[in-house]
Amino acid sequence: MTSRIPFIAGNWKMNLDHQQGIALVQKLAWTLKDANFEYKNAEVVVFPGFTSLRSIQTLIDADNFEIKLGAQDISAHDSGAFTGEVSGIALKKLDANYVLIGHSERRQFHYETDEVVQAKTAAAFRHGIAPVICVGETLEELEAEGAAAVPVRQTLAALAGHEVLGNFVIAYEPVWAIGTGQVATPEQAASVCGKIREAIRSAHGEVADKVRILYGGSVKAANVAGFLRSPEVDGVLVGGASLDAEEFAGIARFQSHLAL
Ligand code: PEP
Repeated sequence: MTSRIPFIAGNWKMNLDHQQGIALVQKLAWTLKDANFEYKNAEVVVFPGFTSLRSIQTLIDADNFEIKLGAQDISAHDSGAFTGEVSGIALKKLDANYVLIGHSERRQFHYETDEVVQAKTAAAFRHGIAPVICVGETLEELEAEGAAAVPVRQTLAALAGHEVLGNFVIAYEPVWAIGTGQVATPEQAASVCGKIREAIRSAHGEVADKVRILYGGSVKAANVAGFLRSPEVDGVLVGGASLDAEEFAGIARFQSHLAL
């Protein structure tokens, strides 16, 4: 298992309105409490859509929940004529601890290039929000270049030109495994996560030991332990299964099924 604090992230994508979001976070917190979950054993972070962030921030604050909050995107710009964009200033004001950057759906459907991902990473660093930089290869890239080449390239591109202090997370998500039910094997995930860490070490030095590198792609309570048994995988980024409080709580409680 990892020596870093495992990071369990739920990406809600474009699902749930703010009332449904409140209900989900309440149920998640209560389910974890009933199971005597210890937040020192894993950091649990939800990434709701923008319209739910304020409500969920208020709930977390009012009820002293230890669940952390993240946004699904950030503008590269701080303010101005950028209709529809959301700035790091606004996200910081909502106590967003983390922000997803370069999710494969943003790269694929919104044409985000490595340059855009790099600029958004800069914005997150500028505002003291830890970026969760998503990287991963498509099936075609897997066949042409192997599993690690694209994620390593995307990681280095996102971090290029920044003073890298370790306050970021990398999520390795093979595009062919997202929302498809097709899961990478724990060995594949561990191997790519290890190569990403080595690349960060070569480019940025010992900060590589602090960075948490996650696996994402069709993770469920039933398969999470397989990934987190490896010391190379520091957590998981979960899409579909994070919309079900009990399932996501089961993922956060992966340590209880590590021994099984
Ligand atoms: C994701 O959206 O980052 C993801 C991994 O989705 P899913 O768990 O549904 O494959």
